[in-house]
Amino acid sequence: MINTHEADIVIVGGGLVGGALAKSLAPLGLKICIVDQAPPLNKQQHDTRTTAIAAASASLLREWGIWGNLEQEAQVISKIVVSDQQNGAALTFDPRDFARSEPMGWMLHNKNLREAIANAASHVEGLEWFYEEKCEKVATAGMRIMLTTNKREIKAKLLIGADGRGSWVRGLINTTLSRWHYDQVAVTAILHHPHEHNGVAVEHFTPIGPLAFLPMQGKTSGLVWSIKPHLLSKLMKEASEALSLINSSLEDHRGQITKIDARREYPLEVILPRHLGKNRIALAGDAAHCMHPVAGQGLNVGLRDVKRLVESITWAVSLGLDIGSSVVLDHYTKASRPDHLSMTAVTDGLLRVFELSSRPATFARKMGLRVVNMVPFLKKRLMLHAMGY
Ligand SMILES: Cc1cc2nc3c(=O)[nH]c(=O)nc-3n(C[C@H](O)[C@H](O)[C@H](O)COP(=O)(O)OP(=O)(O)OC[C@H]3O[C@@H](n4cnc5c(N)ncnc54)[C@H](O)[C@@H]3O)c2cc1C
Repeated sequence: MINTHEADIVIVGGGLVGGALAKSLAPLGLKICIVDQAPPLNKQQHDTRTTAIAAASASLLREWGIWGNLEQEAQVISKIVVSDQQNGAALTFDPRDFARSEPMGWMLHNKNLREAIANAASHVEGLEWFYEEKCEKVATAGMRIMLTTNKREIKAKLLIGADGRGSWVRGLINTTLSRWHYDQVAVTAILHHPHEHNGVAVEHFTPIGPLAFLPMQGKTSGLVWSIKPHLLSKLMKEASEALSLINSSLEDHRGQITKIDARREYPLEVILPRHLGKNRIALAGDAAHCMHPVAGQGLNVGLRDVKRLVESITWAVSLGLDIGSSVVLDHYTKASRPDHLSMTAVTDGLLRVFELSSRPATFARKMGLRVVNMVPFLKKRLMLHAMGY
């Protein structure tokens, strides 16, 4: 016989955003279930990715009681250098230039971040976590939505889709999607180098795509290089070939890269649903917005979704409103869409501007970087945006 559960909220997807949501909803004392198709973390393959957490996102994780020991595992990003290989121009963002003691952000191994979120969520009273379950269908029944998995039925007032970029829940909301693929694949890896990185993150725009060196603890850095698919084999096949391509594309104070660990590839696309909530269903994290990783902002926007969704639900609870009603879902959509649109526009615009290789375009970029360098107000505004403020 199939199990039946009653909850206030059912979250599909217990990844970074789903776990953070469950933890940050805790003060409301609601009954929450998380359904994930994957096994528990200790049975999963290691996620070898790294994530840049902006200063404002670290404050949110602190507020939700997730940051705790993470700071010991995190590497401070003290500065960000943006450079253009085609014209030699560079721009440095350093909060100390604007008398701010807070760093730009922190770098973390995804594995550590996921563990911290899952550990913090495991202490939430009333939270049930169902692993390795396959979602089959949903139906609305009066003031409830019913999710059927291969093992149970869960009735709730609100269903939240935090099931990532290939979201199944997103397909349940009848809404228009803006969607386009990039002719690029991101390759990630950990790099080993002889000298200290001094907390400097580099976003280097090469003619074959943006290359990020992101400082990790010790003499290691995370690599995220978004390149054309036909060049993928140069980075993915022989480690020696990957090393020589990386070393010939960027040399800085880290010295020549001596070793590259396991590499992984990610296809890149934009997905932006027009509505983030309908028919007792809300979307958060990559289910609500996929963007290019060039500025390392996807999860940072996802954590802001968590903040906005919790605010909308708290507002509804305080007024005695139905948390799954359209007024609450519209409140959340209205608060979140401008952030999704502006961050997608920034990342997409950066790519398009740095992709141009004609002489007038490279000259215009050089002038553009100079102007930003010379106008403190503009530079500070861009820096605060990258810090999540
Ligand atoms: C190369 C690369 C580098 C990046 N770097 C950064 C960075 O530096 N900073 C940053 O802020 N962002 C970065 N991002 C983006 C960031 O990784 C994502 O925004 C983040 O992982 C989204 O978290 P999420 O919880 O929404 O989705 P996910 O982490 O994908 O989690 C989804 C969860 O849902 C589960 N699930 C999926 N489908 C189902 C289903 N049908 N039923 C049940 N469960 C399901 C999965 O098992 C998983 O647990 C990067 C992305 C890429 C590709």
